[in-house]
Amino acid sequence: MSLVVIGTVAFDALETPFGKTDKIVGGAATYIGLSASYSVKPVKVVAVVGDDFAQSDILLLQEHGVDTEGLQIKQGEKSFFWSGKYSNDLNSRETLVTELNVLADFDPILPDSYQDCKYLMLGNLTPQIQRLVIQRLVNRPKLIVMDTMNFWMDVAMDELKTTIEMVDVLSINDEEARQLSGQHSLVKAAKIIMEMGPKYLIIKKGEHGALLFHKNQIFFAPALPLEEVFDPTGAGDTFAGGFIGYLAATDDISFENMKRAVIHGSAMASFCVEKFGTERLLNLTQEEIEAREQQFADLVAVLPATATVA
Ligand code: AMP
Repeated sequence: MSLVVIGTVAFDALETPFGKTDKIVGGAATYIGLSASYSVKPVKVVAVVGDDFAQSDILLLQEHGVDTEGLQIKQGEKSFFWSGKYSNDLNSRETLVTELNVLADFDPILPDSYQDCKYLMLGNLTPQIQRLVIQRLVNRPKLIVMDTMNFWMDVAMDELKTTIEMVDVLSINDEEARQLSGQHSLVKAAKIIMEMGPKYLIIKKGEHGALLFHKNQIFFAPALPLEEVFDPTGAGDTFAGGFIGYLAATDDISFENMKRAVIHGSAMASFCVEKFGTERLLNLTQEEIEAREQQFADLVAVLPATATVA
């Protein structure tokens, strides 16, 4: 099942209560690609970097099953750069710097070999570019999942809404759902957002898990209580990569299977936050992933309450 992913491949500089990093490899498409690669290979990436991006980093993606034919390298230009600082409880973060660089005039060219796309993941990126990718696919994919962030709501809300109208599943965090809908209640926000186009909505709530909405149904997946959370960067993208990777591998987009995909995505995200950047996603085993999924199942397993007898 061909999975195409678009998003940033970037340099990040991160500051958490546990330490600081200088420019390390990050970006939405990087996290999505690595995460999805544990379910399906190849993951066909459409992205752009500058000539400051090391060949060894591209090789690392390739070694993990990421097809980089659609990765453009712009000579004499700099890669997208993002810098963020986390609060002490790691629940909120401040964007310190967003330098679009190569992204400013990115033309997402799809190689012919990507036209068999059945599952399309629109990772966080300019909404106009996300839309262009949908338009450039000759056949509409079976499922289009989109992720975005407050940055694009602040600078390109109208463009964003036009793109949102075209997708099947939208994945955002709780703050973003409130900003997009103008509603504080997430249930009301979900109704309003689903009226904008997507049939499914995922609202991520960081350490409080994720909600999946479809019509009047709501599914809740917890986040695993972890002893150590080091760096939440990329958790949302890793979740999205796990979610769409699972759906592509099983080729089943029923609501029931989406619930399993949400658990798989949550398990992948729980690994991501254990180390800085992409480090923890580079060497996972299927056994570790399955054991983590079992931990999720155990976390919420309970016998139905027995009726109280008067
Ligand atoms: P997440 O923590 O899942 O929200 O994703 C963090 C990743 O998103 C980082 O690796 C950044 O490079 C990337 N990122 C940050 N801001 C943007 C933006 N405005 N557009 C696209 N990607 C971004």
